[in-house]
Amino acid sequence: MTTSAELIEVSERRSAHNYHPLPVVIHEADGSWVTDVEGKRYLDFLSGYSSLNFGHGNQKIIEAAQEQLKHLTLTSRAFYHDQFARFCAGLGDLTGKDMILPMNTGAEAVETAIKVARKWGYLVKGVERDKATIIVMEDNFHGRTTTIVSFSTDEDARADFGPYTPGFTVVKYGSTEAIREAIDANTVAVLIEPIQGEAGVLVPPDGYLTEVRELCTEQNVLMIADEIQSGLGRTGATFACDHEGVVPDIYVLGKALGGGVVPVSAIAANEDVLGVIKPGQHGSTFGGNPLACAVGNAVIDLLNTGEYQDRATKLGEVLHARLRELIGHGVVTVRGRGLWAGVDIDSSLATGREISKALMARGVLAKDTHGSTIRLAPPIVISEEDLLWAVDQLADAIDSF
Ligand code: PLP
Repeated sequence: MTTSAELIEVSERRSAHNYHPLPVVIHEADGSWVTDVEGKRYLDFLSGYSSLNFGHGNQKIIEAAQEQLKHLTLTSRAFYHDQFARFCAGLGDLTGKDMILPMNTGAEAVETAIKVARKWGYLVKGVERDKATIIVMEDNFHGRTTTIVSFSTDEDARADFGPYTPGFTVVKYGSTEAIREAIDANTVAVLIEPIQGEAGVLVPPDGYLTEVRELCTEQNVLMIADEIQSGLGRTGATFACDHEGVVPDIYVLGKALGGGVVPVSAIAANEDVLGVIKPGQHGSTFGGNPLACAVGNAVIDLLNTGEYQDRATKLGEVLHARLRELIGHGVVTVRGRGLWAGVDIDSSLATGREISKALMARGVLAKDTHGSTIRLAPPIVISEEDLLWAVDQLADAIDSF
């Protein structure tokens, strides 16, 4: 048998070191549990960065994928296929938007939103060609393309990847005033994560999203909500913007839209915005493929039941109540919403990575971000018992330092 150690050694030698994984080699998974090649089980407290909201091997999603595999997997967008209409109409209804533009990865969907906003700026708003600017937030995370890293404020993500794409203005997250000051006649959009995930699950002040929405409407600027990580049930609502009753002009979706099976992303907007894109102006060979749409349709069906949103709300209360008890016991702060939490560990005790490793030794997989923050995002299908057990393991892991 090939051991984890052997597989890790080859992986490290033969792959680029663009990630720093925990030393676990997963072989199979079911629900919220994964099993490594030696047969050791772990509770998944990361969910593929919220891609596995509906759990590993969700029966409805797997059945949809298996059924589609028997019929048709790819046409390219040169032709229509029979899953496409349902996907666009279903996602359009879920978001309340007229139109969908499907892509594959999150970064592609963000790029798509940027392109659409710029084109809208020139064709509809009347901004002078090549002068459009988009306001983005400090500590944002929207992906890894050259344009997206151009407006990252994380030097690891950005340094040495220039020359950078111009046309972005960075402002402080959580301050409507900062956005107001930055808006000028060339501003076409404000691009925002309703909760900043990679930054450490940063929840903005109450009312912020509402104010951003009002400001965008007042200034004729598109509000683009990157709900790639915050959307699709994670926070206890279909979209994190729902908590304030805010409807952005463009939703950017990904991760859980692919049910943890295939990469599926999309942007959703009304015709007056997305209608600016004409044949030949944007696309992707795999975007909106039959397998992706079939899986996406199963995901939309699950979300339409409302069960996952309710479950994330209820279990989220349990999670946050228990996590708050750890404040003062090695935990400095707990943030988050629904089944999503950023836990700042006392940095004098241990780094986030050390805590993640100690957690792993206790059978829970989570990942650190930015120094001493641990991000928790279990599959929404997790049982309350498992959830509490995992927090006990976190408490024990912290105590071990
Ligand atoms: N936007 C947000 C808010 C994300 O959290 C991520 C990934 O973590 C992305 C965009 C990029 O998605 P992908 O890794 O699929 O390109």
